[in-house]
Amino acid sequence: MNEKDYLLELDIDNLLESMACQEKIHFAPSYVCNKLGINDSEKVANYLLSLVPKKLVPLFEVECPEGDSDFRVENPNSLPLEEPRVCHHCGIEYVPDPNRIWLAFNFADHYIKSVKKNNVPKTPSCAKFARPLALL
Ligand SMILES: [Zn+2]
Repeated sequence: MNEKDYLLELDIDNLLESMACQEKIHFAPSYVCNKLGINDSEKVANYLLSLVPKKLVPLFEVECPEGDSDFRVENPNSLPLEEPRVCHHCGIEYVPDPNRIWLAFNFADHYIKSVKKNNVPKTPSCAKFARPLALL
């Protein structure tokens, strides 16, 4: 891994941490790319996948031919790619197309917990000077 990749991963880690604090759910690699101004979405997606299951849970979102997000699965192997199904948004019958399956992520519960634990606001060390002098 070169230094540039290392810095990219560091940026992504930092961004994920702040997103986890805000309990952001269901985000795509493109969201991370936009936030960090990165063009290489494949690299970002691969790095995000490498954080499964430590930080992230992947979601594979299947789009119907009309562009609705019809359903999601956590495991791509459980996708019913052969059987026709009916979109629960528009009612169109279709067979899921591998080119219309989008990768997204949620944070793993244990990761959100650990981020929040590490981000408890600390009492400023000068707090005792915040009182009027007369009360000291
Ligand atoms: Zn539809």
